[in-house]
Amino acid sequence: MSTYDLLGIGIGPFNLSLAALLDKTKSAKFLFLDDKPEFTWHKELMFKDATMQTSFLKDLVTPVDPTSPYTFLNYLVEKGQFYHFLNTGRKSINRVEFEDYCKWVSKQLGASLKFGCRVQKVVPTSEGYTVYHSQGSHQAKALCVASGPVPNIPECAKPHLGANVFHAKSAQAAKMNLEGKRLVVVGGGQTGVELFRNALKGQWGRPQSVRLLTGRENLRPLDEGPFTNELFTPEFVSEFYQLPQSSKDEFSERLLLASDGNTPEYLQDFYNDLYLERFYFQQMPEAGIYPMRWMTNLVSMESGAYQLKVDNRLQQKEESFSADIVVLATGFRSQIPQFLQDIEPEISKDFMGRPVIGSDYRLQMNSGLSPIYMMNFSRHGHGVADPQTSLMSWRSAVIANKVLGNESYQTSSTESKFVHYHNPIQEPSL
Ligand SMILES: Cc1cc2nc3c(=O)[nH]c(=O)nc-3n(C[C@H](O)[C@H](O)[C@H](O)COP(=O)(O)OP(=O)(O)OC[C@H]3O[C@@H](n4cnc5c(N)ncnc54)[C@H](O)[C@@H]3O)c2cc1C
Repeated sequence: MSTYDLLGIGIGPFNLSLAALLDKTKSAKFLFLDDKPEFTWHKELMFKDATMQTSFLKDLVTPVDPTSPYTFLNYLVEKGQFYHFLNTGRKSINRVEFEDYCKWVSKQLGASLKFGCRVQKVVPTSEGYTVYHSQGSHQAKALCVASGPVPNIPECAKPHLGANVFHAKSAQAAKMNLEGKRLVVVGGGQTGVELFRNALKGQWGRPQSVRLLTGRENLRPLDEGPFTNELFTPEFVSEFYQLPQSSKDEFSERLLLASDGNTPEYLQDFYNDLYLERFYFQQMPEAGIYPMRWMTNLVSMESGAYQLKVDNRLQQKEESFSADIVVLATGFRSQIPQFLQDIEPEISKDFMGRPVIGSDYRLQMNSGLSPIYMMNFSRHGHGVADPQTSLMSWRSAVIANKVLGNESYQTSSTESKFVHYHNPIQEPSL
């Protein structure tokens, strides 16, 4: 059995970006595995009106290698739609376009990507790791794990998970039937709003009513200001990485709307839909947005319906909402994957039990095991850009350089920021 220089686990956009960068150098032996039968991207949440929250120039490769054959612009040219795309005048692309672009890249990477392989176990060896999966096993000197976060399910909803209560990213959500039913969407992030809007449009049949509960103050737009966007630069990640952990946690909390707000144009279009429906077309089911609400309990009724007990945090009283279907748009959480359980005791953790990941994305371990790089596991360590596509090509370049043992990609930026959290000027103190 031959040994790979790098074996990637998971083929979402993050590892696809790394595969694309490694492929261009032709100097490493690598393989990436994924459970899915082919490349798809959050297909349960693929709405026609959903747009990317990131510029199309921040694709899998362009920010570190605009000459790569795997750029979004090359995809447009190869597909014969470059001029038409420019004529749309758009800055953001739809999620369906991003997925199609990633599929196009994945097809070109051919046998370097293996789909239909569920990784079950990773076992350390003297030279690296053996990775066992549903179709066999492979040896590798190093791994890069980008298997994605897992759905976050509120404790009170766990006993009810099934045909009528489910997470937004689930098979049930994609094929739900809302005809004549009362829907409650829990969560007012981008996914919650997209579900709410598409339910009102009748995507899953005509519901009786649609309500959205959110713990936030309102549906809040993403903060896309130019100074905020300096958070999505390699320099900021380096600055943030050096902060004390308690400052990092508090600061990331304050920066929530830089990464977890609603797309401003989407909110505007949606409000416009609501306005036209209410005052002209009047065909919309009963609908309402309920901010400052926190679901505290979920009770199943004899009728098969559910009652949500909700804390109204502004009026400081308990409220009830009835529902036939409850969709939990309650986000995702990071969790060390089950297949790493054999090495879990070796993983260095912070005071909250979170894995410590180095500035080069290498998982820190107590023993001298071979490298395991981790992508999308370190928002707590690397900041708000960690789960985002904004810096994915730069992150992949950092890891690619480590795997290749040289600086094939330039990762230290020559750009200088305007916003300084560390003082760059060493002035003598009085
Ligand atoms: C609906 C949605 C829209 C988003 N839109 C944006 C956006 O516009 N801009 C932005 O910056 N960020 C966005 N994000 C956040 C983030 O960029 C995405 O979640 C992105 O998909 C993360 O990429 P990933 O490669 O880490 O993980 P994923 O895309 O989740 O991919 C992980 C892969 O690992 C595979 N896998 C898991 N376990 C195993 C196993 N045991 N064996 C084999 N394979 C396994 C899975 O099948 C999956 O294909 C969005 C997130 C969601 C949910």
